[in-house]
Amino acid sequence: MLPFIYERADTLHEALSAMEEVNQQPPTDAPSQFIAGGTNMSDYMRLGVNRPSRLVDINPIQETAMRTIALEGSELRLGALVRMSEAEDHAEINRRCPMLSESLKLAASRQIRNMATLGGNLLQRTRCEYFREISWPCNKRLPGSGCSAMDGFNRQHAILGVSDSCIATYHGDFAQALIALDASIEIQGRDANRRLPISELHRLPEDRPDIETVLRPDEMITAIIVQIPQWASRSTYLKVRDRQSYAFALASTAVALDLDGKNVRDVRIGLGGLATVPWRAVTAEDVLRGRPLTEEAANAAADAAFAEAKPREHNSFKVELGKQTLVRALMEVREMSL
Ligand SMILES: Cc1cc2nc3c(=O)[nH]c(=O)nc-3n(C[C@H](O)[C@H](O)[C@H](O)COP(=O)(O)OP(=O)(O)OC[C@H]3O[C@@H](n4cnc5c(N)ncnc54)[C@H](O)[C@@H]3O)c2cc1C
Ligand code: SF4
Repeated sequence: MLPFIYERADTLHEALSAMEEVNQQPPTDAPSQFIAGGTNMSDYMRLGVNRPSRLVDINPIQETAMRTIALEGSELRLGALVRMSEAEDHAEINRRCPMLSESLKLAASRQIRNMATLGGNLLQRTRCEYFREISWPCNKRLPGSGCSAMDGFNRQHAILGVSDSCIATYHGDFAQALIALDASIEIQGRDANRRLPISELHRLPEDRPDIETVLRPDEMITAIIVQIPQWASRSTYLKVRDRQSYAFALASTAVALDLDGKNVRDVRIGLGGLATVPWRAVTAEDVLRGRPLTEEAANAAADAAFAEAKPREHNSFKVELGKQTLVRALMEVREMSL
């Protein structure tokens, strides 16, 4: 691990003041970076993937809103420093929107979730093996060096949202449930704050896979805001992986369903393990709205969700796996009662 300066920030202002005045800069070599739970940051610093010269610990920040869960009416506000395990244990969140709790419970291990924060979870970096092992060319780590996964072993890589520069999967689970619910994030900058739909946080790789989000280095996520519709109690997060625990998704889906009798009034679908960014399956939702949720309709929606898929040599199985995961989740939520 390279030497670095470690600083603790007691306030938001202190944390943000510590950030360098630079325009958008990729996380690999940004000189100053935040550390929250540290489960992703310390791992990637050890591997030499993240190379900050200054690490600003945001855990001591005193602003209580950053570590609080508040549920008032339909609005859920999750502070960015809330630990994953705290949110998954929240009985009302679980009752009113099971897919949110399940997307947390099915991630990593309980020990990691006791440390990891919700803000850090959204910003975790890909697990692409060629990205993690710094001797390989990788456009995300070293822009312009090439993509080793493209013609390498790409079994776990993305089939949606890919570019000629990068096919790395976004591996987080929680963001899929959030994107399905049109959640937004609160961002505090040095001079101003702003609110952003979560669907606009992560950037498609295109020709700059090294720039992963629209956050500026001097901005911090302070909270996640979710409007939970009354019908979200009919929702689920289904995760398919190589083993039943402690593994990232090969395919996953967050589904929430609003039924009017047998007809679909509304449906929300997020897909994980399959795309370069948290993925909303808008075309699949459009197929389902206004018609009865039969197995035939679910299959038609799944076909629509993967119509634009671009599989490579070792991950073509993900097209069928993704479709079947979605169909199974839709059939399961159909049987749930409100
Ligand atoms: C073995 C293992 C298995 C895992 N399995 C899964 C899994 O199945 N599903 C899953 O979803 N995740 C999984 N994870 C990832 C884990 O959930 C993340 O590492 C964790 O959520 C990151 O949160 P953190 O607080 O530790 O972030 P950190 O490591 O502290 O930070 C991560 C990044 O976010 C930035 N950051 C943190 N907080 C903020 C903020 N508030 N504002 C702006 N920037 C911020 C940091 O600068 C850094 O770039 C796994 C991790 C490990 C090690
Ligand atoms: S898929 Fe992306 S992260 Fe992986 S090697 Fe290629 S450029 Fe790097």
